[in-house]
Amino acid sequence: CGIVGVLGNHEVSPLILDALKRLEYRGYDSAGIATVNRGHLDRRRAVGKLINLSDVMVHDTLPGRSGIGHTRWATHGAATVENAHPHQVGRVAVVHNGIIENYRALRDELGTAGAQFSSETDTETIVQLTSSYLDQGMTPVQAARATLKRLEGAFALAFLFEGEDDLMIGARRGSPLAIGHGDGEMFLGSDAIALAPMTDRITYLEDGDWAVITRAGAQIFDADDRQTNRRLQHINVEA
Ligand code: GLU
Repeated sequence: CGIVGVLGNHEVSPLILDALKRLEYRGYDSAGIATVNRGHLDRRRAVGKLINLSDVMVHDTLPGRSGIGHTRWATHGAATVENAHPHQVGRVAVVHNGIIENYRALRDELGTAGAQFSSETDTETIVQLTSSYLDQGMTPVQAARATLKRLEGAFALAFLFEGEDDLMIGARRGSPLAIGHGDGEMFLGSDAIALAPMTDRITYLEDGDWAVITRAGAQIFDADDRQTNRRLQHINVEA
């Protein structure tokens, strides 16, 4: 299971596939990628090996210079395309590693409010929540922050939004997540190994941190939403 995110200056699907390959050692049962292309949010998913996902994208290309990717190790819901990440509801897509402990209560609450679920995952409650906050008029950053306040459990997350070619939000509680710094490009990854071909300049998020990332850089907030600085490190991994 792994997470990758790229705000790039070229097509990102091949970069994300490559980074996901570098996370294969963690094991996975399905994979997927979402991109924003000229404002349009779209995704491709496949069960099994990454070659299945790249086959899907050969026939049904996924253009865009901003994207997130995921390898899934199913905890809630079988290894199916419907349960594969990214999960998308309305204007937001999310990839998630970990478990949302209070997903049943959230699912009941959202279902009562009229949400239509299309997967069996705990993860979908995250996107349903964020989407409902966007519908209430919150900005993407406000909606992500409000969502994080509702979640219990362990997770690493990456959010991508319709209409936002220069925005990616990352968050971690329990599971690791790192920000990679490029030249006019920014990256997210479960570890420095995933990002090694793209950058060796890494900032590890600390527990409870969340980050608003644009091509200009990252603003990092702690669990109490106070803006904070985390150390930029040079990590040498064999690319
Ligand atoms: N709990 C989530 C799911 O089952 C994420 C699993 C993972 O860490 O890949 O879809």
